[in-house]
Amino acid sequence: MRLLAIHAHPDDESSKGAATCARYAAEGHRVMVLTCTGGERGEVLNPAVADRIERYPPRSGSSPEADMARMAELRRAEMAEAAAILGVEHRWLGFVDSGMPADPRMPVPAGSFAAAPPDRVVEAMVDVVRQFRPHVIVTYDENGGYPHPDHLATHRGAVRAFYAAADPAAFPRSGRPWRTSKLYYTHLVTKDRLAAFHEAMLHHGLESPLADWLAGWDDAGNRPVSARIRCERYYATRNRALLAHASQVDPASEWFSVPLELQQEAWPTEDFELAIDLTGSAPDGVEDCLFARITDAGDISGGLPGSGVHSCALAGTPDPNLDRAAERGAALRPALHTPTDLPTNAPRPSYR
Ligand SMILES: [Zn+2]
Repeated sequence: MRLLAIHAHPDDESSKGAATCARYAAEGHRVMVLTCTGGERGEVLNPAVADRIERYPPRSGSSPEADMARMAELRRAEMAEAAAILGVEHRWLGFVDSGMPADPRMPVPAGSFAAAPPDRVVEAMVDVVRQFRPHVIVTYDENGGYPHPDHLATHRGAVRAFYAAADPAAFPRSGRPWRTSKLYYTHLVTKDRLAAFHEAMLHHGLESPLADWLAGWDDAGNRPVSARIRCERYYATRNRALLAHASQVDPASEWFSVPLELQQEAWPTEDFELAIDLTGSAPDGVEDCLFARITDAGDISGGLPGSGVHSCALAGTPDPNLDRAAERGAALRPALHTPTDLPTNAPRPSYR
């Protein structure tokens, strides 16, 4: 099967659903990460490698453009390393990072991804979808999972591209129509996951850095969980991929404060929200495989035979977390494509 993860910046793929991607790639599925922007407006967030930037001297004097070019070059190298670690294929969509405005009401820079004509974004994504022909697309929810203009633009583009790729009348020059079976939103953090980590830290006599974050959590921003994917064996891979983005990730950050073994024990899954489901069948509770219930290939132009039924072949002992999630009755909700006013409970680390 084929999984396409659409992300805003280089490094997002290594923090949002990364262990799941690594697992599916390791199990022989094709996994492609599509990164919408080059991350040109990212800042160096890891003091330990701040000097690395100096090794990329401006080629045409010091200017914002030269700084962005240096950052893009650095991040291309980091992204290549992260993709190799995760074992995934990688494509750039080719847009320019919009940057994170100090004030969300500020306009995004001209020529940036979030300012691009929506149809241009959708067409570029449709090109990739029709070439790669994924069975599942993973991206962000309507709040971006993190309120960055590029994350919101990624959500809008990916949802439109999901439908447009299957529409023979849309972007006919982009190739043969392809109907992707499902679209999921990644959940970077959930309250349950944070609470499990927090409790596990305390249980093991460790100081938990998560108390404040949990105390300030707004339940109104909670998202439904419709799939929990076992991938704890790939948590170390995820961390290595994240650290490959050395300019963006401080190894001393809170992000790495929960010991790996403890994460694996306390919460062995990454969690997803099923936003669009064209399989024609309904999930029986919380899913344990993103490819579950996909019964045919999505080539709707009559060119290819169906791919048959996918069998979700992860053996293992029942996971108590899955049962707990099922008890809570994680409900599907229809895809909402406009940003809501709900809080996002975005991660506190400055990293994106
Ligand atoms: Zn991002």
